Amino acid sequence: PSADHEKLRRRVDNGVNEIWYYIKSKLNEIKQMSVKDQIDKHIDDILVDGGDRQRLNPRDCRTSKKLVCNINKQCGYGCRLHHLVYCLIMAYGSERTLILEYKGTGYSKDGWEKLFKPLSNKCTDTTGTSRKSWTEETRIKEVQVVDLPMVDLLQSKPNYLPLAIPEDLSKRLLLLHGQPAVWWIAQFLKYITRPQPFLQSFLNETKNKVNFERPIVGVHVRRTDKIGTEAAFHKIDEYMVHVEEYYKRLSRIRDVPIKRVYLATDEPHLLSEAQQKFPDYVFVSDNDISKSASLHQRSSEESLKGVIADIHFLSESDYLVCTFSSQVCRVAYELMQTRFPDASTFFHSLDDVYYFGGQNAHDQTVLYRHVPRNEDEIPLELGDLVGIAGDLWDGYSKGLNRRIHKTGLYPSYKTEDKPNIAKMTTYPEAEK
Ligand code: GDP
Repeated sequence: PSADHEKLRRRVDNGVNEIWYYIKSKLNEIKQMSVKDQIDKHIDDILVDGGDRQRLNPRDCRTSKKLVCNINKQCGYGCRLHHLVYCLIMAYGSERTLILEYKGTGYSKDGWEKLFKPLSNKCTDTTGTSRKSWTEETRIKEVQVVDLPMVDLLQSKPNYLPLAIPEDLSKRLLLLHGQPAVWWIAQFLKYITRPQPFLQSFLNETKNKVNFERPIVGVHVRRTDKIGTEAAFHKIDEYMVHVEEYYKRLSRIRDVPIKRVYLATDEPHLLSEAQQKFPDYVFVSDNDISKSASLHQRSSEESLKGVIADIHFLSESDYLVCTFSSQVCRVAYELMQTRFPDASTFFHSLDDVYYFGGQNAHDQTVLYRHVPRNEDEIPLELGDLVGIAGDLWDGYSKGLNRRIHKTGLYPSYKTEDKPNIAKMTTYPEAEK
């Protein structure tokens, strides 16, 4: 056993003895009393004292229920962050302590914790008296250590997975935020990405170096390996239409001497193309030509810092234009929600509607009936639930009418998102 282990064992041992001395002496005192009020008062004091002692007890990592999440998902940075968010939401919902495991290749513990503060300093040990893979919660209730699979392999998805919001906050969230689920996800993300001083200074230096000043619109253009496999190609002109719209709106209420764009992209030559095509904009970017020419030859730490900086500055922008098919764009949008009371409308996505990988059904309720005008469209009746698959951004959305099991188009204004409210633990002890 380690010195820490021995110290803790002695403290527990001592605590048990002290409680026994305390109870013994208090019971002897009560035995001497005859007035009921006096006895009641004495018992009340013991209840308060006893509670204080119990709360002092640290939640012991050796006995606590754990959820083990392997962080070596082989994918890009945005995808890994979302994987961590998923793990933390699962731990939160199942009332387990999240333990990160760094087995396999990819990010090492040291590498990750050099950039971000550890989730916990106290409980990092994956051992326990029983261990099982995640399955229905009733079947793992008594299991101390549960291994969490990747979200795509998760069987029996709990109702607290995104896009759920916690019931206890739901009233306020629905009042204050246009996309409460994104706000909720953002809180986990913000916690996970608390920067170490080393990363914070790097971000501060980069901010000065690139002259990041407001007003500024963040544009993320995802190209290279994503095109043709997971997303379609979009010209820079398509993004700039929405940047222009933003600045037109802004110039109605204030003077805009410089129209700045923070351009983040994995496409090396895009910055110079944008500068040539749109000379009346000032493009701010961390991908200068000398660096971007060898984007693929950069060391892994350098390229990681590159994408971290890009996401950071996209999220610090006043408005975002990007493709929600990219996790980089979705992470930036999520983080943006932690800077404003409600930034749910400060974006334009050229493709998908917002989603969280592995989410439970994203349903909409019908506000107005719809009679199809051609065979591409589906009918809508009041009371129908529609699982939305995408917004075509031309006034129409695509989705599945769950009543008649038919997929097709419908006018977007005829439906609205159905809030997904889940009863989650409220952790009252955290407020004490
Ligand atoms: P997705 O593939 O776009 O959904 O997002 P991921 O984050 O999972 O993977 C994309 C990877 O491409 C990132 O981890 C980066 O390495 C790289 N990448 C994509 N867009 C950018 C960008 O704007 N800037 C930088 N520096 N890298 C990017």
